[in-house]
Amino acid sequence: MENFKDKIDNIYANQIENRSLISALTIEERKAYLRKLKTSILNHREEIEQALFLDLRKSKIEADSTEIFPVLSEIRLFLRKLNKWSKVKTVQNNLLFFGSTAQIQPEPLGNCLIISPWNYPFQLSIIHLIACIAAGNSAILKPSEFTPNVTAVLEKIISDVFPTNYVALIDGSVEETTYLLTKKFNHIHFTGSPKVGKIVMEAGAKYLASVTLELGGKSPLIIDGTLPMQEVVEKAVWGKLINFGQTCIAPDYILIKEEFQQEFIETFSKHIEKVFGNDLSKSNDLARIINLTNFKRLKNLIDDAISKGANCPFGNQYLENELYIKPTLLTNVSYDALINEEEIFGAIFPIYAFKEINEVIEFINLKEKPLALYILSNNKNFITQIKTKTSSGAVVINETLVHILHPNLPFGGVNNSGIGASTGYEGFKDFSHLKPILKVNRLLSPSKFLNFPYKPITQKVVDF
Ligand code: NAD
Repeated sequence: MENFKDKIDNIYANQIENRSLISALTIEERKAYLRKLKTSILNHREEIEQALFLDLRKSKIEADSTEIFPVLSEIRLFLRKLNKWSKVKTVQNNLLFFGSTAQIQPEPLGNCLIISPWNYPFQLSIIHLIACIAAGNSAILKPSEFTPNVTAVLEKIISDVFPTNYVALIDGSVEETTYLLTKKFNHIHFTGSPKVGKIVMEAGAKYLASVTLELGGKSPLIIDGTLPMQEVVEKAVWGKLINFGQTCIAPDYILIKEEFQQEFIETFSKHIEKVFGNDLSKSNDLARIINLTNFKRLKNLIDDAISKGANCPFGNQYLENELYIKPTLLTNVSYDALINEEEIFGAIFPIYAFKEINEVIEFINLKEKPLALYILSNNKNFITQIKTKTSSGAVVINETLVHILHPNLPFGGVNNSGIGASTGYEGFKDFSHLKPILKVNRLLSPSKFLNFPYKPITQKVVDF
């Protein structure tokens, strides 16, 4: 049997050999592949939904709306815009370049590696692949080992649409990824945790591959009590409970003005039971924790916080065999609790009460820069202060999560929550080199004007 190293070596060598042919694909040929990809996704739609149910117990509607639909709409966007985005753009000259032609030509980067996580295993594998091939690259895709059913469907779709010397999938875990990362890629696109992001960036540094990192972090949800509490709770619950809290941009914790904390807890408890039923574990609309390791990690976060003095006004009930923890609220959380440090990635909401806005700003700025920052407020001055005195991948006012759907906003983090941006035009640029091409007018060359570089630089030029 072929071992994984031989398999990776073969695929990698074939993609390198095929590189010039892939780079030379016309825009229409790239678009034809996107259309084939779309058809194959539609043909496998039920299988994708089933796989997402088996791996994460996602409901059909959640699978459609958060995994399949975003991918199809991304293909549609690329089909509509690719001609425009990939066109050579002529830029303006200044006086020095009068008569020259200055252009920017997007060119493919070459051989790319895309590594994806388990939480949106279909969407986050395909959405970056779309940008990658639209920009004229080849790809090796390495999905997460924790969603084997989705990987099996991804494998079918990819082999249905692409030859392996163009796009190939490697099914594997840390060992396989570590081996892939020894190879010289032109670009690596990684979605996952900051911890592994650092490993990926170090591997990219060896060959100076460009690296895009879509990471995670602790995204705050700030509530100052100026919006109706029912609206606040609905937005908090929706943002947290999609995929059972396992969303990179899920609000991680709540900062709430002290006098509104009790009202929040009461409204939250009523709302959540109204929406999901008295026994939340029986709801078909809640996904499940990915595996036992994460179940134990989340349980430990709750136990640790409670052992350090936190109160738990809602939740803290478990069904281990179902990988279920009832959505949980924690108040009075000690600063040295583990939950205050690590990304929760589960349906637990620690609530921190504040008196003054400065406490909010200080609390956020003491942590790593988050991927998203949510403000539910009607107070302009409050919003402005938070926006300008903190740093985050994105700021969303009056909602949670929805910025990811905006076609013209870049999606990405900053420092610990990510480097670079993805999807839409940003995705296309991410997988392209925007190459400047300057054709100088021989009669009006800047070198003549400046007496440079054919003669020594005169004092006159330096003074210029
Ligand atoms: P992860 O970092 O553990 O794994 C991501 C990928 O890296 C997987 O394919 C895995 O096989 C591989 N990997 C794991 N350990 C590795 C190692 N030591 N060496 C090489 N490769 C390794 O992340 P995860 O648990 O799959 O996903 C959760 C994380 O991803 C969270 O932090 C979440 O916020 C983040 N995330 C970010 C985005 C975004 O777009 N910014 C989207 C989804 C998830």
